[in-house]
Amino acid sequence: MTKHIFVTGGVVSSIGKGLTSASIGMLLEARGLRVRMQKLDPYINVDPGTMSPYQHGEVYVLDDGSETDLDLGHYERFTSGTLTRDSNYTTGQIYLRVIEKERRGQFLGKTVQVIPHITNEIKEAVLRLADPNTDIVITEIGGTVGDIEGLPFLEAIRQFPQDVGRENCLFIHLTLVPYLKAAAEIKTKPTQHSVGQLRQIGIQPDMLICRCEQSISREEREKIALFCNVDVQAVIEEKDKDFSIYEVPLSLRDHKLDEFIIKRFGLNAQPLRLEAWDNLMFSLRNPKHEISIAVVGKYAEHKDAYKSIYESLDHAGIRHQCQIRIARIQSSDIEEEGPERLLAGYDGILIPGGFGERGVEGKVQAIRYAREREIPFFGICLGMQCAAIEFGRNVIGLERAHSTEFDKDSPHPVICLLDEQRNVTQMGGTMRLGTQPCHLIHDSIAQRAYQTDSVSERHRHRYEFNNVYRQQYEAHGIRFSGLSPDGGLVEIIELPSHPHFVAVQFHPEFKSKPTKSHPLFARFIEAAIERHNGRKQRNTPSAADGSSGGALESSAVTS
Ligand code: GLN
Repeated sequence: MTKHIFVTGGVVSSIGKGLTSASIGMLLEARGLRVRMQKLDPYINVDPGTMSPYQHGEVYVLDDGSETDLDLGHYERFTSGTLTRDSNYTTGQIYLRVIEKERRGQFLGKTVQVIPHITNEIKEAVLRLADPNTDIVITEIGGTVGDIEGLPFLEAIRQFPQDVGRENCLFIHLTLVPYLKAAAEIKTKPTQHSVGQLRQIGIQPDMLICRCEQSISREEREKIALFCNVDVQAVIEEKDKDFSIYEVPLSLRDHKLDEFIIKRFGLNAQPLRLEAWDNLMFSLRNPKHEISIAVVGKYAEHKDAYKSIYESLDHAGIRHQCQIRIARIQSSDIEEEGPERLLAGYDGILIPGGFGERGVEGKVQAIRYAREREIPFFGICLGMQCAAIEFGRNVIGLERAHSTEFDKDSPHPVICLLDEQRNVTQMGGTMRLGTQPCHLIHDSIAQRAYQTDSVSERHRHRYEFNNVYRQQYEAHGIRFSGLSPDGGLVEIIELPSHPHFVAVQFHPEFKSKPTKSHPLFARFIEAAIERHNGRKQRNTPSAADGSSGGALESSAVTS
């Protein structure tokens, strides 16, 4: 019988439920259990694919092409269970399914209501993950307890133990235990209130994970346990990490979280195996190099907009025992201030994906700067398209070369709409999405990095390189090192005459893990380290030594 863990959040939003849920999954896997993870989001959009990164941060894409919440990125980075479109449901999707059933007449004349029809649909969504190959399903409920829109989800999980047995369900509530400086003490009242609200709905949490700045004493844990009606061993502290998010599972382990869950479910589990995780922490704590990377994007000021990119850079840093300082640079600022001022001194420049015209010219200028100054460059999706535009304009001399996404009348549309996109009118879920195979050209940078001739990577785009221009680009030194199996679509371009100039149409950042850096990120960072070390020998200043124009942040893993 599959066991179910439900994770809710209280007191405030952004309390780190995604990371905590992923860490729980990771610890249970490290005990030899088969875990699947899922997020239920209370908003009405059918998926986050139509939302601006300002609203929602990054849209995380799965192998099957579903566009999902960025917390699923944490799940994939921390655990190995497969994620599919059943791993993320929104209110919009649940209602859509119910309304479609109603239109088909499946409710046989009944009045369709939140209870039982919507709640049944939610319970089915959870049960879809329970199968004989799964020991534990972890379901995270988005939002904060007390939100009106979260109520149907909470009601559904309240009913859930009636269907599968209370002994097969565990409710974990993540809450905030603030420290009041003026009083010099931590406060447990918000937690009591939040648990009170859950109990009003009919959910008695089995475990409380308490986010806090200061450690919680045994006495205070006893107080929380007493007021909230949970075991004192099940009041678990999760202190803020000022070093790395990858410490979270280790600290939950120190507070015996896995032990409690396994005992409570009466499961047979192996002793904890965390070698891979210990190794990555060792690498993080003992860097041999320190470099700086400029990420030039449209939403640079928004920390969550390129979450997987920042994390993938860190994974590559872990792989090379290298501390990476990331400067998040707004591409539109480059248009105003020029690349010389904002990009001087970095060891590598990365241009991530994006949509819409704002900042595109700044990206093109940044790529020109990277190409001409021989700075390691990595372009992703729109970053690849901008690289093609830059090369077309400044090397081949194609006047006003552009993407038809931004200039419909360009005399040289070097990036144009994919054929399959020409008649698309609906915006949601209609891009070229999900895993696609890609063949690599022998002895290219990409092929050497991957160490294989064929890969599959995740996509999310409508535009592509215009094949009419392929020969011209090749004649000027571009190598098309990755193509779709029929050769029809350009997936990777590189510039062999440059120390490291690689740009990809897909999103490698969705497949990188802290314990297994993505090969293209690893190679990019290796090239940046080479440049940094070469520069040290020549004694030229580097941004990592504090001489850059942009504001440097410490590694992105520091939350
Ligand atoms: N806007 C571009 C396209 O749709 C790039 C998309 C992206 O970077 N994800 O093709």
